[in-house]
Amino acid sequence: MEHTYSGSLTPYACNDKKSLGRLFEEETPIYRNNYQRDRDRIIHSAAFRRLEYKTQVFVNHEGDLFRTRLTHSLEVAQIARSIARELGLHEDLAEAIALAHDLGHTPFGHAGQTALNQCMKDYGGFEHNLQSLRVVDKLEQKYADFAGLNLTFETREGILKHCSQANANELGAVGQRFLDKTQASLEAQLTDLSDETAYNNHDVDDGLRYGLISIDDLLKIELFRQQHDIVIKRYPSINDRQIIHEVIRRMINVMVVDLIDTSRSNIQNINPKSIEDIRNQNNPTMAFSDAMCEQKLELKQFLRKNLYQHYRVHRMSMKACAIIEALFDAFMNDPRILPTEALEHCQKLKDSSSQEGMARGVADYIAGMTDRYAIVEYERIFNPRQLSFVNLIP
Ligand code: MG
Repeated sequence: MEHTYSGSLTPYACNDKKSLGRLFEEETPIYRNNYQRDRDRIIHSAAFRRLEYKTQVFVNHEGDLFRTRLTHSLEVAQIARSIARELGLHEDLAEAIALAHDLGHTPFGHAGQTALNQCMKDYGGFEHNLQSLRVVDKLEQKYADFAGLNLTFETREGILKHCSQANANELGAVGQRFLDKTQASLEAQLTDLSDETAYNNHDVDDGLRYGLISIDDLLKIELFRQQHDIVIKRYPSINDRQIIHEVIRRMINVMVVDLIDTSRSNIQNINPKSIEDIRNQNNPTMAFSDAMCEQKLELKQFLRKNLYQHYRVHRMSMKACAIIEALFDAFMNDPRILPTEALEHCQKLKDSSSQEGMARGVADYIAGMTDRYAIVEYERIFNPRQLSFVNLIP
């Protein structure tokens, strides 16, 4: 007996029974559908476990109260599942994409990604989206029959949110839509927007708790002020912590409701009969209303100026970049200092005519590090006080 999805699927949803399949053919599992299997493989991967010690804005050891990439991914999955279920789309697929979407991120969030991309500028660059796909397609090495997690096309397509034409050319079927200028599935589209919804809101929360921004500052932002007014009117005597939570949960809700309503109306206008009708659109079908886009932009600009560019965040970013650059240069200058497994990986990729394969292997090793592992590795290599052999043991 074949297990199938238990929710109701529209004809333009991804259907696990009509999946475009896996790179290495496998039988459908007995009690799960194919997208559930994808999700389960993601949860059991090493890259997923490492998300717990990777950060987006703040460095992991700065405190236990802040989001990590793991809790971020869980929040994205929560939002994506709600939207998928309401619109008759495949909830399991949306969940799988959400849990995998950040697997390729470097340590130290955006700062780490920028630094590694800079290190890789002569070797094809580094892009976290592409790296997430590389993790699930190649870098997880524990299945006997195949490299990577051998996920379905639909999950892989959702992971690859953006891609340059040059890289798309190398990727085969999963890169084709960037060449044809067609669209991804609705599940992929909605998970991308769930990501944005999650981080815009949790960065407000983390920023407030970190003391980098204040409620007073945020009252200049329409999206925040509207919900703040509602909360204060209803609960005149609650404390700041409660205000923050009550406002943020409402902000997430209005964004999600707007996204569902706008997308549903777009779907009605298109009147799709199949997923192909969605793919062949010139623009994504999942969208926020124009009014919400404006409000979101105002919030994003506020966060960029007051949070992401805060001097205390810059100080962390500067140190993070220095660590990534120093590690990259050290490994490239003398690969013999790489741990055995990482060196073997680099040697497999190494092309005798160029350093590009070597650099890619080093980037894979660095990208796979958690924040704290990168700091410890830096200490092991550069701190002269750690000259004893005991400290050099990984
Ligand atoms: Mg994300």
